[in-house]
Amino acid sequence: MKYISYNNHSFKKTKYYDRLSQTQKDDFEILSKIFYFKTNNYVLEQLIDWDNLENDPMFRLNFLHKNVISAKDYEQLLMFYKAGVTIKDLHPFIEMIRKKTTPQIPYDEKCFPKKGGERIQGLYRSFNNVISLFPDPMLKTCHAYCSYCFRWIAFNNTEVQDYTTYKDPRTPVDYLKENPEITETLFTGADPLTLNADKIKQYVDPLLEVDSVKTIRFNTKALTWWPFRFTTDKDAENVLELFRYIVSTGRNLTFCAHLTHVRELQNDHVIEAVKKIQATGAKIICQGPVVEGINDTVEDWVGLWSQEVALGMQPYYMFVELNHNHEASFRIPLAKAVHIFQEAEKQVKGLQQPFNGPVFMNDVHCVSIDEVTTEDNAKHFALKCLASPYTESEGKIELIPYDEHTRSAGDLVAMFSPQE
Ligand code: SF4
Repeated sequence: MKYISYNNHSFKKTKYYDRLSQTQKDDFEILSKIFYFKTNNYVLEQLIDWDNLENDPMFRLNFLHKNVISAKDYEQLLMFYKAGVTIKDLHPFIEMIRKKTTPQIPYDEKCFPKKGGERIQGLYRSFNNVISLFPDPMLKTCHAYCSYCFRWIAFNNTEVQDYTTYKDPRTPVDYLKENPEITETLFTGADPLTLNADKIKQYVDPLLEVDSVKTIRFNTKALTWWPFRFTTDKDAENVLELFRYIVSTGRNLTFCAHLTHVRELQNDHVIEAVKKIQATGAKIICQGPVVEGINDTVEDWVGLWSQEVALGMQPYYMFVELNHNHEASFRIPLAKAVHIFQEAEKQVKGLQQPFNGPVFMNDVHCVSIDEVTTEDNAKHFALKCLASPYTESEGKIELIPYDEHTRSAGDLVAMFSPQE
């Protein structure tokens, strides 16, 4: 299959646009003026069930839903749109909504590696042994966009890309050599595997000079947004060769697949891609968020984890949607998330390695909702800090009052950071 990418304009010229109901068309028109939309021919032809759009998790995963903005803003935009107000005139209003939904990311100064007191741009170190790397070309795009993505702010935004990334592939080397406790480097993106193999290798090679780096990890959704990346694309064999090369240096190559629903793993193209990646010696681990209307039942997670295990992939994290967006529109009640995790874990056979959920990864700490517990005759959520730049916080448990309906755990950064 040859990759064809669609944006909000070109998608409207496909036969699929006519499959949307009028309400879905309105949503599409309005929301794609605020957020970026991107899909491709594989997603349209093989993943989305066009006969069941209302309930289709793949449609909801790729197409924006109106609850990503407030009901009031949506109604107002709809009114303007129907009245024929031009995009130019709508611009200030759209900018205001974009501002409201811009992710508020709680960075901690301690997480920014420094040289001579200055930040080394494009590096972020939340945890003692892991560093996230943001080479400029990797922050640009993905093969399609997820409706719940909080990184949309970086897409098509050269200003954000310029001040959060590095261009010189050797940028992390000195810092890594000076900090041998860092054993894992993580390319996360947008999606690093949208790049061609040569470009990725340029950024990997310098890391391989550092003996203390034992694991090279890619966080990616290429496996299920575009599996041909690893099978029939012109560059597919080159990327597999790159994986073999990394493994041949004695490093662990961790391919961290972003997965949301079992449907992403149920066709021959993706299964072939999994086998080819595994044959290089890479290990595939899987993570994704529990999100409303896409995968918010026990059955969804039993199905997803069972298929992951059947394909020799390792479930790793179930995330809770972050507070990055004020609307937190995909967040489900915390009690429901705990129930889904615990029940699904019981039902899936062959889960050998421990994995975590539901987990908040808040750019400073990694915190799991460990259990619901009773203390002094009152129910609580027990929150446990799994990893933190403040090692003294790791393992710390905090109890917060249980509420069946709450979607908020409060200020986790304040809760797990040392008090001044
Ligand atoms: S693959 Fe990841 S970075 Fe890309 S749109 Fe989806 S959530 Fe965002």
